[in-house]
Amino acid sequence: MITVEEAKTIVEDKVIPTSQVENRSLQKALNSILAENVHAQINMPPFPQSAMDGYAVNYSGKDYDIELIGEVSAGSAQKFFLEPNQAVRIFTGAEVPSTANMVVRQEDVSVVNKTIKVHVVPGELANIRPVGEQIKKQNLALPVGHRLNEASIGFLASIGVETVSVYKQPKIVVIATGNELALPGQVLKPGQVYDSNSLMLQTALANKGFTNCTIIKIEDCYSTTVNTISEALSHYDLIIGSGGISVGDYDFIGKALEANKVTSHFYKVKQKPGKPLYFGQKNQTYVFGLPGNPAACLTCFYIYVLPFLNKWAGGTYTGLTEFTGYLKKEYTRRGDRAHFLKGKVVNSEIEILDGQSSAMLQSYAFANAIIYVPLQKSHLFAGDAVKYFAI
Ligand code: AMP
Ligand code: MG
Repeated sequence: MITVEEAKTIVEDKVIPTSQVENRSLQKALNSILAENVHAQINMPPFPQSAMDGYAVNYSGKDYDIELIGEVSAGSAQKFFLEPNQAVRIFTGAEVPSTANMVVRQEDVSVVNKTIKVHVVPGELANIRPVGEQIKKQNLALPVGHRLNEASIGFLASIGVETVSVYKQPKIVVIATGNELALPGQVLKPGQVYDSNSLMLQTALANKGFTNCTIIKIEDCYSTTVNTISEALSHYDLIIGSGGISVGDYDFIGKALEANKVTSHFYKVKQKPGKPLYFGQKNQTYVFGLPGNPAACLTCFYIYVLPFLNKWAGGTYTGLTEFTGYLKKEYTRRGDRAHFLKGKVVNSEIEILDGQSSAMLQSYAFANAIIYVPLQKSHLFAGDAVKYFAI
């Protein structure tokens, strides 16, 4: 059995990022990774822009009354030529006349008829956002490999981008195994439990930007499993098995992968939960066999599948973000496996939650952290600095 660290390294080494790219509208590009540099096609701002509601003034340096000759609001195309000691009323976002040398805040001005008095002179070019202050035309807006978050989408929209060239979405199939699985909405028959993993994995994938996911539910039957995997190998980039990967008589995923000549990169990891984790590959299709116990399934998704997908899709091999916190109560790791624990972090204080069983999701629903207790640590003391992954 290999360690968590070895398993992670194997996944990282084996994943070959896709080279397929596609154009996607900005509306549908959240979490995608840019396949080419994006250069600005305009200056932003495109014109000298007022940063304040106030008065754009051609201020000559003396304390004259200043003549007010008009008004420019945001979106107005009207141009004004200001002689020395002339001003226009101006509003945030409006184009500043080219001969204005400052925008004075309205709070610092008093207005009498068509003249203004400036009480506080803010200084040369104050409150004027110069053309291209944020980015100049032709300059690099966002680089290849950048993951488009919400701000990226807004920024690209602000420079007029409509579509982006991004790495294609992986086609993913979740094969949920189990004779015992019923669907929410159905009445449970004796011996049945509801299928939580399919929807949980599909949701977790979508939440990370991987929306192209099909679910196939199969019974614990050797030939069905062989055929389903055979089909899936020719249609999908990633197969995620749920359950059926352990050593029971009704666990057929491993045997069916073998029958389909899928190469195993590893099977079984010294970790709790998630010992029977499988990772393999046939040609360009990768396979994760996740344990059926729901909490184990989700933890293996976060720790192994997520960084895999991020790298596959053109990004870096990173999953959940790691932070350091301080343990509220001591913890003893028993056995010879590393532990992943459901935790709750508040103001850097880490609480290890009750309900650590790999079958239990309720505690996971309240968790905002996964605490990793490596093999090298068998006891953690209250107050110890501990790394955790933020969910
Ligand atoms: P397995 O890995 O197939 O041996 O399943 C281990 C445990 O997880 C069993 O108690 C299963 O009933 C349960 N399990 C397997 N798949 C699912 C699923 N999709 N949803 C909920 N529980 C599951
Ligand atoms: Mg099973």
